[in-house]
Amino acid sequence: MITVENLTKSFPGGTRALDGVNLEVAAGTVIGVVGPSGAGKSTLARCVALLERPDSGAIRVDGTDLVSLGGTALRAARRQIGVVPQGDSLLRQRTAAGNVALPLEAAGVPGPQRRARVGELLDLVGLTDKAASYPDQLSGGQRQRVAVARALAASPSVLLADEPTSALDPETTGSVLTVLDRARAELGVTVLIVTHDMGVVRKICDDVAVLEDGRVVENGKVLDLVADASSRTASSLLPSVT
Ligand code: ATP
Ligand code: MG
Repeated sequence: MITVENLTKSFPGGTRALDGVNLEVAAGTVIGVVGPSGAGKSTLARCVALLERPDSGAIRVDGTDLVSLGGTALRAARRQIGVVPQGDSLLRQRTAAGNVALPLEAAGVPGPQRRARVGELLDLVGLTDKAASYPDQLSGGQRQRVAVARALAASPSVLLADEPTSALDPETTGSVLTVLDRARAELGVTVLIVTHDMGVVRKICDDVAVLEDGRVVENGKVLDLVADASSRTASSLLPSVT
């Protein structure tokens, strides 16, 4: 369970990227965070990933407030959170297997164990046959699936994916969503997906939160919000009638 309480974050120059965000994500569910460009979605994901320190508020994962941690405890908490960053994030000079192995090397996992784990992860994302391929020999969707496998390497309880399907065609998007759904179904990981694509929300999210100007303006079960004609989610999920 992730609980975000009254999170605020301003940037130099006065931009209030997060303005009192409250959010609850139940363990083993998938939440979609949507909203216009500049709404604060990436900032929220980066704060939850502990890559950005909020000005105030709390981020509780299984009860522990991560914002208050420092030093070794902070590093341990970071390992509980896997991140698929926005954009192309693989190291070009490393193969698919080499990229997935990175967090395991950083954690000092011995070679034989590491190779076994990399094999499992590539199998999970359906890329066993691409283990020795370099990123520029992979399709966009395959690269994103390697990024998901890498984010899952250290067995996190939470997976954050920032626009994991942007710039992918519908079929390739499907293959990435399948992998994220497997992370939840087979590993019990709690998944937060930042997306512009309401199709992504419809396909795999249990819940959705709409961010606008650093605030959550709507939050609930996707099925409920789709059924509620007055909801902002419904109006953006359904094709507009002209
Ligand atoms: P997009 O959909 O375009 O990715 P977003 O919802 O992810 O947008 P954020 O990247 O979270 O938006 O940015 C929220 C606000 O904070 C924006 O006004 C942005 O300009 C500002 N911002 C984000 N990062 C920084 C930074 N490092 N320094 C200064 N301002 C920033
Ligand atoms: Mg963003």
